[in-house]
Amino acid sequence: MDGLYGDSTRSVKAVGSDPVSGSPVVSPPVLASTFHLSPDEAEPSDKYGRYSNPTWRQLESALAELEGAATALTFGSGMAAITAVLRVLAKPGTKLVVPADGYNQVRSYAREYLAPLGVTVVEVACAAMCAAAADADVVLAETPVNPGLDVVDLHRLAMDCRRRGSTLVVDNTTATPLGQQPLSLGADLVVASATKSLSGHSDLIAGYVAGSHPELMAAVEQERLLAGPILGPFEAWLVLRSLGSAGLRFERQCHNAQALAVMLRTHPAVRSVRYPGLPDDPSHQIAALQMKRFGGLVAIELDSAQAVHSLVERSALLISSTSFGGIHTSLDRRARWSDPVADGFARISLGIEDTDDLISDFEQALS
Ligand SMILES: *Cc1c(COP(=O)(O)O)cnc(C)c1O
Repeated sequence: MDGLYGDSTRSVKAVGSDPVSGSPVVSPPVLASTFHLSPDEAEPSDKYGRYSNPTWRQLESALAELEGAATALTFGSGMAAITAVLRVLAKPGTKLVVPADGYNQVRSYAREYLAPLGVTVVEVACAAMCAAAADADVVLAETPVNPGLDVVDLHRLAMDCRRRGSTLVVDNTTATPLGQQPLSLGADLVVASATKSLSGHSDLIAGYVAGSHPELMAAVEQERLLAGPILGPFEAWLVLRSLGSAGLRFERQCHNAQALAVMLRTHPAVRSVRYPGLPDDPSHQIAALQMKRFGGLVAIELDSAQAVHSLVERSALLISSTSFGGIHTSLDRRARWSDPVADGFARISLGIEDTDDLISDFEQALS
């Protein structure tokens, strides 16, 4: 039924409450750490805040709905969600593939904490993911990959994983469920940071796991209970509050990204541009097949680090900050964080400003 609706309708519906007369249209956050227990010692759905919380569950059902999953689990950060899944799946003796060109702290975690436990960690770039899946037990793919914005063919990768019997986990942070639904393309689990476009106001850190295999989701839930990397209920409520406008914000961010990519592609000061929505981008064909929207990130390369700094200095709208997906257009020179990219490489995150204002601002800042 909800498949009939557009993104903004789904975002709004995902955060609604039951239409009971006199009840609030939006639910207040439930901040309790502990809950009343009955003398018959029956197990209530809420007993202690590390198990569950009514605000988490409301957020989790909204996230599951958007991802097309049976269930979702919230975490205190994207990294908390990803590492919980890796601890469940990557046991000693297994072979784990992680993106060589993806989010760098995932590689650090695999190298520093999983490899010493006897997990064989293999770092593979986006383009070679399918080949690497041939003898892996767990494949963690990221698409479009952060920061380079290459795209993995998820359907093909899922088929390769299925043939081998390996588990496919997809990091859906950059695309968001409004941009693509990896589970519908065959992924076993989705992991993501809700810190970025999904919450979109640069005011919280959160993450989630979504999936439809009951045993897998139960194992991830048990890991969350025992390790405790939980989301505070107030942050859960802030994510919910933001989710209702996610469709609207993401639509503008993608529109701004497309317009900026088109302008920068032919600009003499710009060495190269990557955006999956550009018809001549190397990833466009696969992206057009598996993505509903191409996302709010544009990757560019200028001549030098200094050229990137001058762009920010001369711009009236662009802010220099890490992370992405917020309402402000921002830029991050990734070499400063040791990403394997050129000195003049920058990841630009489009905000929700008016498109014409952004384009004029970039034009004058680059001239
Ligand atoms: C930001 C990010 C993460 C980590 O999320 P946090 O909420 O910062 O922990 C993981 N994967 C990708 C692709 C990201 O961009």
